[in-house]
Amino acid sequence: MKIKFYGTAAAEGIPALFCDCDTCNLVRKIKGKDIRTRQQVTVDDSIVIDFPPDTYMHTFMGLDMLKIKHILFTHSHADHLDVEEVLLKAPGFCNPDENDPLHIYGNETVIDILEKAIDRADKRLYNYVVFHKVSAFEEFMIDDYKILPLKANHKPNEKCVIYYIEKDGKGYLHGNDTGLFPEEDYAYLKGKKIDLATLDCCFGEKYSEMSHMGVDCCRMVKNKLEEICDCEGAKYVLTHFSHNVRPIQSELEELVKDEFIVGYDGIEFEI
Ligand SMILES: [Zn+2]
Ligand SMILES: [Zn+2]
Ligand SMILES: [Zn+2]
Repeated sequence: MKIKFYGTAAAEGIPALFCDCDTCNLVRKIKGKDIRTRQQVTVDDSIVIDFPPDTYMHTFMGLDMLKIKHILFTHSHADHLDVEEVLLKAPGFCNPDENDPLHIYGNETVIDILEKAIDRADKRLYNYVVFHKVSAFEEFMIDDYKILPLKANHKPNEKCVIYYIEKDGKGYLHGNDTGLFPEEDYAYLKGKKIDLATLDCCFGEKYSEMSHMGVDCCRMVKNKLEEICDCEGAKYVLTHFSHNVRPIQSELEELVKDEFIVGYDGIEFEI
């Protein structure tokens, strides 16, 4: 599997649109890896996880929505679900094919939001998208990929999920947005092969265990995974950084050294 990160920021992006904090001003100057767009990851060329407002921009970094047949949603926060962009799948904005629909996987909240938007905008879109409701711990297949949604510790009034994806004996754990994983997740992850794990490090050096994590809690999750899973040769990537914690690439790399890889927009892995 090829796992590519197109965006590695939290909701506001870095630099944040309206922000004049020291971090955002610094990033406006130094640019490079420190510019971070909203979180988006692809698995090979056929699956994309989440659909942020920066999806269009990501197409200039290699994301090919003509090849992507499946969108996996983690939850409905606007930095993961840009409703208006999904509506561009309708006739008039493109030339969709009823025999080649876009498959959309999400919890009931995600699907409800999208259905309401389609009802309002253009009901013809139902001919070109297929909704699949996902629930934690109910495994399903997309072609040769085995997808296991797990519970996220993120938004109390929504059934947010993270994903474990398996193909050809390789395993990818997509762990954001979430605080410390709910205990139940570990029962389902036990014994799994993990070659690459993405962990939510929104809070950087600040301690956080609910909703999002910082380095301390990412370390706890990593240790737990190493205890119960087959993690030989596994890589752990930190992502979903907020401007509030000064996520400067070189500084973060120094901070986590050999423990974690600090994600940046465009980084990719072959597992
Ligand atoms: Zn987010
Ligand atoms: Zn800022
Ligand atoms: Zn979120």
